[in-house]
Amino acid sequence: MINRLCIGTPIKAILGKHSCIACGNKLQLKSYNRIVEKDSEDAKCYNFDGFGDFKVEWKKFYCPMCGKSLECSTQTSYEKSLKIDKMTYGELIKHFNSTQLSRSWVDSNGLYLDRLPIFDDEILDNVFIYTYFIEHNSKKYPFEVCVAQRRKMRERPLSIKKDKNYSRNLSNLLTILEIK
Ligand SMILES: [Zn+2]
Repeated sequence: MINRLCIGTPIKAILGKHSCIACGNKLQLKSYNRIVEKDSEDAKCYNFDGFGDFKVEWKKFYCPMCGKSLECSTQTSYEKSLKIDKMTYGELIKHFNSTQLSRSWVDSNGLYLDRLPIFDDEILDNVFIYTYFIEHNSKKYPFEVCVAQRRKMRERPLSIKKDKNYSRNLSNLLTILEIK
């Protein structure tokens, strides 16, 4: 008999409406499982003190329309970043007009993406930065808003957080542009 380890679903994922990041359809929670070998590196991520290999069971978001699946905390983290984006736009638009503002995800090689990063790839260890570009006197000033980074644990969800220097960077930017 193989042991089971059930991982709870975050409350934020259970409550409220969640839309697919790819197609916008309403998401469902779906059960997934996999076998983890007792002595593997992988096993160290889990709080499992039983004997032998074990089966991990957890829920992910699943889109019945396009078939995309995403870890719960990646989805809720992305939803939070949308709010940060909205707030940032609201703040910047007080000082600039919309034609001066552009935004995109940038990967760790500095490449601009014209789409969302691949948030559901479990192997990819890239870091993505959500960046605003402010055009001012024919120059472009970057403003880093959110950082998306793979968490080295369990199902390797992606965590998207507000850049830790967000307030300082914004204030510096406005000072440089002599707007304050
Ligand atoms: Zn979808």
